[in-house]
Amino acid sequence: MSAIDNLPPLREVINTHELAARKSLGQNFLLDLNLTAKLARQAGDMADCDVLEIGPGPGGLTRGLLAEGARHVLAIEKDRRCLPALAEVAEHYPGRLTVIEGDALEIDPLSHLTPPIRVAANLPYNVGTELLVRWLTPPEWPPFWQSLTLMFQREVAERIVATPGSKAYGRLAVLAQWRSDARIVMQLPPGAFTPPPKVSSSVVHLTALPEPRYPADPAVLSRVVAMAFNQRRKMLRSALKGAAPDIEDRLQAAGLKPTDRAEQIPLEGFCALAREIAKG
Ligand code: SAM
Repeated sequence: MSAIDNLPPLREVINTHELAARKSLGQNFLLDLNLTAKLARQAGDMADCDVLEIGPGPGGLTRGLLAEGARHVLAIEKDRRCLPALAEVAEHYPGRLTVIEGDALEIDPLSHLTPPIRVAANLPYNVGTELLVRWLTPPEWPPFWQSLTLMFQREVAERIVATPGSKAYGRLAVLAQWRSDARIVMQLPPGAFTPPPKVSSSVVHLTALPEPRYPADPAVLSRVVAMAFNQRRKMLRSALKGAAPDIEDRLQAAGLKPTDRAEQIPLEGFCALAREIAKG
């Protein structure tokens, strides 16, 4: 029996259900239930919230979220081998866990969730950034979620919280910090996972702001920032040549120097430029 519930330890779960980790699915499992409970606590008070979890795997974080009092957990898992193990967790917490088998990139979870909603996940590395960008760039704000508590490779986590002028500053920093407060709340060495990945990991907690810090159209901002950082060593006037025929004028109207480079531009500057470009 484990420390946080009366279910078997995760090593036993993995052996019983023959859940040898698959690299193609980004499977690096957390088997220490004290650690998964600690990770779950980073999501904040979940007693009145539904929690969306992507990639529950054998259920370590899922069990942490339920033991820490989540009202309801909706877990989306692509690997059907994990479903019997997750069914045992669901049975242990009647009415509090729903598991959907499928690809999180294809499934719209909203019809299964009741607000307020938090998201918590030890994300599969191959889909983590894509999901984060989708959660940050819906056309309307506030989004469906109150907070995101997500495990990333440390290098990706550092890109999310990076400030202008640093090497890590780029599209992820701008999109994340435009509409949320983002901070790193936990660091985990490779040895915390089975099998250990090559790099360290970090947990990022993002809290949705009631409204974006500066006005801008999300699609335009996203496109401009992607272009600007795609050629980050170039001056803005050449990196953004394709964004508007009169890009030098637009940059100046936004208060930016055409000779600046993307990594020097603060969030406010990108939003001003997106507004100028959106004028058509
Ligand atoms: N949450 C578990 C833990 O912390 O031990 C497993 C985390 S493991 C890093 C990532 C999990 O995401 C795996 O269980 C994998 O099968 C699942 N996964 C990978 N791609 C997925 C996708 N596109 N949609 C849903 N789940 C996915």
